[in-house]
Amino acid sequence: MRKKIIIANWKMNKTVSESIRAVTELKNKLSGKQEVEIVVAPPFTSLHPCEIAISGSAILLAAQNVSEFDQGAYTGEVSANMLLDIQCEYVLVGHSERRTIFDETNQIVQKKLKQVLEYEMSPVLCIGESELTRKAQKTFSFIEEQLTECLRGLKEEDLLTFVVAYEPIWAIGTGNTATTSQIQEVHGWIRDFFEKQYGKALGQAIPILYGGSVSETNASEIMKQKDVDGLLVGGASLDPERFVNIIQHC
Ligand code: PEP
Repeated sequence: MRKKIIIANWKMNKTVSESIRAVTELKNKLSGKQEVEIVVAPPFTSLHPCEIAISGSAILLAAQNVSEFDQGAYTGEVSANMLLDIQCEYVLVGHSERRTIFDETNQIVQKKLKQVLEYEMSPVLCIGESELTRKAQKTFSFIEEQLTECLRGLKEEDLLTFVVAYEPIWAIGTGNTATTSQIQEVHGWIRDFFEKQYGKALGQAIPILYGGSVSETNASEIMKQKDVDGLLVGGASLDPERFVNIIQHC
């Protein structure tokens, strides 16, 4: 059985004190055993304080980004080793906001994935098409190119801790969630891609999350789809009560 994962992506929101308050509230509200893995991705400045605040709970930590470089003279960068050092289990790689606002190419994403894997954390590779690409009926060729280029040089054994997040750009932060049939269609396609490239066992094992305007009203229907193994939640995860509500709907 594939594990289920729900990730809160706080993006560039919350100071250290706000982050501590939010994870402490989450920790208290989620004190029972959860069937899904709950992961919080605060901004870099809050990672270490959150690590301390969630200790003793089942909540795990994710970083929202990582450097493509290992270490050295790269002012402003944060390395995979630094993230491992503060107990990050997951790292988001190639979020569409990184790709569109900060010009991250598939080639840069590939280097970042290698860094995360080298330091034995789980990368969450974010992929997804724009509205223009979908309207031009090029969703699958676009995603195929993203996967092929981002995974270049990686072998089956590198992908054992891998997670994919399908996030159509037109659904992120817009309130326009993809329909459940659109979501299942793409998730099924992604699973087929992994089965063809890396074998059935790996394709069946890889968790594929959906992200894009997930809320307490649509989470449960999305999670019922056969190839949906979890959620990447942005806006609705900022309020711990809403995020817990989403978790409880899954
Ligand atoms: C995201 O940040 O990955 C995301 C899906 O955002 P939102 O839930 O706000 O659409």
